[in-house]
Amino acid sequence: MRYISTRGEAPKLGFSEAMLVGLARDGGLYTPLTPPLASPAEIRALSGLPYPKAASRLIEPFVGDEIDHAELAALAEDAYAEFRHAATAPLVQIDDNLFLLELFHGPTLAFKDFAMQWLGRMMNRALRRRQSRATILGATSGDTGAAAIEAFGGQSQTDVFILYPHGRISDVQRRQMTTVDQPNVHAVAVEGTFDDCQAIVKALFNDLGFRDAMKLSGVNSINWGRIVAQIVYYFTSAVALGAPDRRVSFSVPTGNFGDVLAGYYAKRMGLSIDRLAIATNENDILVRALASGLYKLAGVKATQSPSMDIQVSSNFERLLFEAYDRDAGALRALMGSLAQSGEFAIAPGPLDAIRRDFDAYRVDEETCAEEIGRVYRSSGVVVDPHTAIGVAAARRALARDPATPVVALATAHPAKFPEAVARAIGRRPVLPGRLGEIDSRPERFSVLPNDAAAAARFVRAHARAAA
Ligand SMILES: *Cc1c(COP(=O)(O)O)cnc(C)c1O
Repeated sequence: MRYISTRGEAPKLGFSEAMLVGLARDGGLYTPLTPPLASPAEIRALSGLPYPKAASRLIEPFVGDEIDHAELAALAEDAYAEFRHAATAPLVQIDDNLFLLELFHGPTLAFKDFAMQWLGRMMNRALRRRQSRATILGATSGDTGAAAIEAFGGQSQTDVFILYPHGRISDVQRRQMTTVDQPNVHAVAVEGTFDDCQAIVKALFNDLGFRDAMKLSGVNSINWGRIVAQIVYYFTSAVALGAPDRRVSFSVPTGNFGDVLAGYYAKRMGLSIDRLAIATNENDILVRALASGLYKLAGVKATQSPSMDIQVSSNFERLLFEAYDRDAGALRALMGSLAQSGEFAIAPGPLDAIRRDFDAYRVDEETCAEEIGRVYRSSGVVVDPHTAIGVAAARRALARDPATPVVALATAHPAKFPEAVARAIGRRPVLPGRLGEIDSRPERFSVLPNDAAAAARFVRAHARAAA
């Protein structure tokens, strides 16, 4: 399988290369040249398979002949071995035709583990074969950094540096990053905000000499290797509800558009998905864009669902690429306009194409809190604020079409956001399993000033790729 950039000016790459570079050289996002198809018989045959088996079957055509079947299967087995639920991604009914897909049984309690556990192993394998190393560098406001540290910690070919704003993330989020006892893990507390951390990461990536010397690599949600792993649970859950012989809709708590985009590719592969509901918090750029056709930046608001507090929804570029029939020139114009003036208008044809698959719903802070309470009172299930936004949007989708089951993606465990949950239901959720001991484990992190040069010195001193 070959991968092409949405902006049409970067070399075509195979799966491993696209995964290792992350962002294309022309600033675009790598996308499969010809997304594979799954026949109804192949989809039916997923029924009853253990999750890792379904994963390797569905991912195989995206990887092509770069890795053999048995190795891919073993890798998926290993990636999901630590998930705390036998079903890996269990489905729970909470109302008529309304289901929760629990994606929080991985090591860091958020759906990002599904992609990151797989990507960490795939990257390490690709680097080992090249006898090469990489330095994973990222900024986090919480979930991504923890998932990356958990996935790359202890891997032989990489060192991982995660910058987070000192004193500005939750205790659970910090401890998930600072208590991983692996020498290749570097949790870095920057004396600044999340935006400062991101600016430092950007500056280091833009310093091409430094980038090459350190072999910097990114694992943020635009990495195609993450999207492909997320396609799997759309299939397994839809099949459990009767696909391919029954249509199913999904409601997806959305920030950077990586998760719901995986649902879109599942549909293109042939899965019987009816509607894809984009569920946002008050950072509603996608809701406004689908309603008006104008994609326009606004300031970021802090909400109870911080992992969806975004200004730009990076992976939306991949959907635009498809909606514009893969016209890379049109994409360059749109993204140029966004960089210049903070907005672009989606043409009527592509906008119609997007609306054929997607709806978008904004859920405000009050409705989010009410939904946590409503689910708890009606079913006894405790949901986190991100999940509650997906459930609230799912109810609106069901109001339009009560006959089609809706799967709301439960993207985080409630114990990851205990304050918001306690405010809504008067009860504090507890961390499951060995995570309960996180409070007593020693923390290890470095504090750096808000300064790109200091961060560069720190990375240079600790990255093995620099040797
Ligand atoms: C990252 C995240 C999201 C948003 O996912 P995107 O792929 O960025 O749209 C939603 N919920 C939780 C808990 C997350 O960590």
